[in-house]
Amino acid sequence: ATKIVLASRPKGMPTAANFRFEDFEIPSLNEGELLLQPLYISVDPYMRGRMNDAKSYVPPYEVNEPISGGIVAKVLESKSEHIDNGDTVLGMLPWCNYIITHEKMVKKLDDNGVPPSYYLGILGMPGLTAYFGLMDICKPKAGETVVVSGAAGAVGTIVGQIAKIQGCNVIGIAGSDEKASMLKDDFGYDQVINYKTTTDMGQAIAEAATNGVDIYFDNVGGDITDAVIVNINFHARIALCGQISLYNETGVSNGPRILPMILTRSALIKGFIVSDYQERFGEAYQQLGTWVKEGKLVYTETIVEGFEKLPDAFLGLFSGQNQGKMLVKI
Ligand code: NDP
Repeated sequence: ATKIVLASRPKGMPTAANFRFEDFEIPSLNEGELLLQPLYISVDPYMRGRMNDAKSYVPPYEVNEPISGGIVAKVLESKSEHIDNGDTVLGMLPWCNYIITHEKMVKKLDDNGVPPSYYLGILGMPGLTAYFGLMDICKPKAGETVVVSGAAGAVGTIVGQIAKIQGCNVIGIAGSDEKASMLKDDFGYDQVINYKTTTDMGQAIAEAATNGVDIYFDNVGGDITDAVIVNINFHARIALCGQISLYNETGVSNGPRILPMILTRSALIKGFIVSDYQERFGEAYQQLGTWVKEGKLVYTETIVEGFEKLPDAFLGLFSGQNQGKMLVKI
């Protein structure tokens, strides 16, 4: 079998050379263990942080050890009393084309007609992130204007739709005209700004948000965020979800210069990690599942095929290769 290990820690933008493929023998199973074949492996921006040797809310990957992350897999062989051959399971698991793990490391997925990949997206970590960041921190009210950066990604496509369900006016920011059309045609966004072809983002946001910005769901940080924040209204709420535009920066940047805006607009800005809400995950699964069933939430994925494509798919997140959730199908 084959595993993908962290070959070296990136400086700045990661490359394929930071990953290495290694063969290994599949050992025989001990009591309680499972042999799994991955169906879908998730690639996520937070993994970039784990490639650094820095303390964060998740421990760093170790050099020469496998990369790991969200995976849905089929059980090929089971020494568990609770999980059978043929079951589908979800877990934070190593990047291997055959995985040995203990039953305690996975959750069995119900056979309820939901495509298993959804548990890595709309009914998984990105869905929960969109739900709690918007509903708990931003508390949207009908008629308010919501701006979402990174709008065409896994989290952003869901945030915009939940904001529409709440009756808001929703403006997205994304990196191509194709993404802008998709967000308007398929995801209900009222307006979308392509930040790659816009020279003055502050002005573009002012023109789109004629009544100002009440809520900002930030997935990207940096210059885009500065441009949104100069347009916020009194009592605006800002959820700091991600800062992907800064993940590959090497120097320490000064700033932000936008804090006076937070003060003078009596605004709220709050960072969060989805696991802060662990005790309320049930509520979000219930609500997201209902909206999906009712057709109020639609969902899209960019699926790259082949285990060997994992590093490329991950790297593609930093150049906007995905629309919706980026996944690798094995
Ligand atoms: P996405 O599916 O949104 O993929 C990343 C997208 O980011 C790309 O498609 C690209 O789209 C955009 N992007 C990449 N580089 C830049 C840049 N320099 N400037 C602006 N946009 C850029 O990822 P997710 O939806 O999974 O995650 C979105 C954000 O949310 C990330 O920052 C992530 O770290 C964060 N996150 C936070 C969580 C939490 O618990 N707080 C949980 C999950 C995610 P484009 O073409 O538009 O540039």
